[in-house]
Amino acid sequence: MSEEINTVETTAAAPAVPAAKTERPVRPFGKKRFESRRKVCKICAEKIDTIDYKNIQFVKSFTMDSGKILSRRITGTCAKHQRQITKAIKRDRNLAILPYSLPKK
Ligand SMILES: [Zn+2]
Repeated sequence: MSEEINTVETTAAAPAVPAAKTERPVRPFGKKRFESRRKVCKICAEKIDTIDYKNIQFVKSFTMDSGKILSRRITGTCAKHQRQITKAIKRDRNLAILPYSLPKK
């Protein structure tokens, strides 16, 4: 009698575990996530005191090909310099030096 009860309990207490649902799909852009261990602010490292909006080559290096401003997370610039860069980029956009956006190809 006791055996029967035990078997019933065990089967009821063990619910079917959902398998293969927890696995995440592989990233389509699954290249290297990190290029270097430590990101350093380019402007701090090179000791540039003012970010000139007329230095187009430099300011442009902080934008994407589509014209978007690259985030601090990507470039590694410090907060102070990121603010100056965004200001320079927006200034350049207003002067039609840099594009607000470019169409996707
Ligand atoms: Zn900096």
